[in-house]
Amino acid sequence: MTSRPETEQETAQSAVCAIEEKTEAKAGATRKVFVRTYGCQMNVYDSERMTDVLAPEGYQATDDLEDADLVILNTCHIREKAAEKVYSELGRIRKVKEQRAKSGKDMMVGVAGCVAQAEGEEISRRAPIVDLVVGPQSYHQLPSLLNRARQGAKVVETEFDIDAKFDHLSERAERPVQKRAPAAFLTVQEGCDKFCTFCVVPYTRGAEVSRPVAQIVTEAERMASSGVREVTLLGQNVNAYHGQGPDGATWGLGRLLRRLSEIDGLDRLRYTTSHPRDMDDDLIEAHRDLKSLMPYLHLPVQSGSDKILKSMNRRHTRDDYFRLIDRIRGAVPDIALSGDFIVGFPGETDRDFEDTMDLIRRVGYGSAFSFKYSQRPGTPGATMDDQVPEAVKSARLAELQALVSEQQKAFNASRLGMHCDVLLEKKGRNAGQLVGKSPWLQPVQLDAPENLVGTIQAVEIVQIGSNSLFGRLIEGQDETDFSGAIPAPAAQAG
Ligand code: SF4
Repeated sequence: MTSRPETEQETAQSAVCAIEEKTEAKAGATRKVFVRTYGCQMNVYDSERMTDVLAPEGYQATDDLEDADLVILNTCHIREKAAEKVYSELGRIRKVKEQRAKSGKDMMVGVAGCVAQAEGEEISRRAPIVDLVVGPQSYHQLPSLLNRARQGAKVVETEFDIDAKFDHLSERAERPVQKRAPAAFLTVQEGCDKFCTFCVVPYTRGAEVSRPVAQIVTEAERMASSGVREVTLLGQNVNAYHGQGPDGATWGLGRLLRRLSEIDGLDRLRYTTSHPRDMDDDLIEAHRDLKSLMPYLHLPVQSGSDKILKSMNRRHTRDDYFRLIDRIRGAVPDIALSGDFIVGFPGETDRDFEDTMDLIRRVGYGSAFSFKYSQRPGTPGATMDDQVPEAVKSARLAELQALVSEQQKAFNASRLGMHCDVLLEKKGRNAGQLVGKSPWLQPVQLDAPENLVGTIQAVEIVQIGSNSLFGRLIEGQDETDFSGAIPAPAAQAG
């Protein structure tokens, strides 16, 4: 069971969405850039894009802060006190910068991401070492913004010109790409118009905008030709995707997925994160029809109480959600469902909380993320009456997480003995071990030679761990003929 922020931005905020820190690498350059990424998969994707944009400027990525000519913090605004944490990190960077200055080396510092968007000029005011503040829609302008900063200007760029960003991503897709990890993210949509009363995303990422289909297909083809076998489509509200198709019509996510499933070498597709109201028939049918669309769905509901759902401005009821789950399971009976839950939203009574617990019992999740409500400045929830005491929130969260943990264990245990395809992604902790992902997004560990990284193998699940599954390669079989699972042969009696 994972504790997580309460918006669907991180769906990214999915099973792999806990705070991540990552640096990106690129070869053949003379200056060094250190990018630290916080938050969701969309930020991971954006950090990759930033290093792509900086490569032609002569920047090579480094994971050594002290070696960096340029430091970029790609920030996330979801966590409580996110801005304060950024300022404290900037304090540490200031010391490194001072140290470098003693040996005659310069260091430029940039703050990107949602904290940059939310705080703007305040960042340069409070942290004078910051040369550049850049919002999520302006990364394509990094080279020119850096030039301005080099000339001594304190640069703040937080305009919402998302179309320009997407146009730039398209240009990037035309260039050759390096060999990539077998699983990658691809942003297809940004922003959100839903205005849930607890969420900052509509304020930090702006209105919903979808990339045109042709851009996405081009980028996905380039990814496939560079070794990517699984793509997770990203969007703050990804199933609201409504991009322009090559035929001039507006395509929804289901149609986009069908098109992407035709790309050679792209064997697995996922998407995250979704809003229940945008789960249309075409998308559900895509789950039914496409072998490459993995049987996993992150579909946040946040609360099981109609009163709280209304107060959260979720614009659906618990019964709407139940009906939706029935339709999805009608199409893919064994799908792994994941969700997000907020406990202690203003006005949540014991009865409301019990409605949430009842919903969880009735749906049955393979995993879920949960979080205590916390007030985010500028959102309507922050000024609502009837804020719930911390102790009550903590007790409810513990109860809810215990229930989800039970369900997760049961779902994992139900995989024991199954045969399924596993995408082997990297070396494991122990010698001779590789780690991959099951169709249901569970980590799978198994003994296998390193040259199988990047391949999909038929695996029998032989043991269930607390957070991952253990498998063994099925000799003589490359992949199962089914992307989900096939039952293992029945054991011989006696
Ligand atoms: S749907 Fe609601 S929770 Fe999700 S990103 Fe939009 S406003 Fe935030």
